[in-house]
Amino acid sequence: MAVRDDCIFCKIANHVIESNYVYEDDLVCAFRDMSPLAPTHVLVVPKQHHETIVDDVPAETLAAMVHAVDEVAKAEGIEASGFRVVSNAGADAGQAVPHLHFHVLGGHRLGDDFA
Ligand code: 5GP
Ligand code: ZN
Repeated sequence: MAVRDDCIFCKIANHVIESNYVYEDDLVCAFRDMSPLAPTHVLVVPKQHHETIVDDVPAETLAAMVHAVDEVAKAEGIEASGFRVVSNAGADAGQAVPHLHFHVLGGHRLGDDFA
């Protein structure tokens, strides 16, 4: 999968559009959600375009995403207090941006729903 010039998260992850970054390495980026639902609401996004978590994502990319979650949790100081990781896939999940992302949510007591 390549980088797509019509995809907002491809643009943010590859610095075509700048955002509020929390972590970055060769494979992934983490940046703050523009409409946060919790004190910490960070999106972990691969630099290559994949639509969902089951869209032929290389194992090393998935591992890099999990590593980024760990880095975000440490940087945000929510490792001990707890956090939630959510990845919406498709219409019934309400996926609004069709580029794979993990929501990392924490910083307060999360509800039973999403945040
Ligand atoms: P989804 O419903 O696809 O799982 O979530 C998409 C998330 O991306 C939403 O929480 C939304 O606020 C966030 N988002 C959409 N566009 C942008 C953007 O351009 N910048 C940032 N930082 N977040 C975005
Ligand atoms: Zn994309």
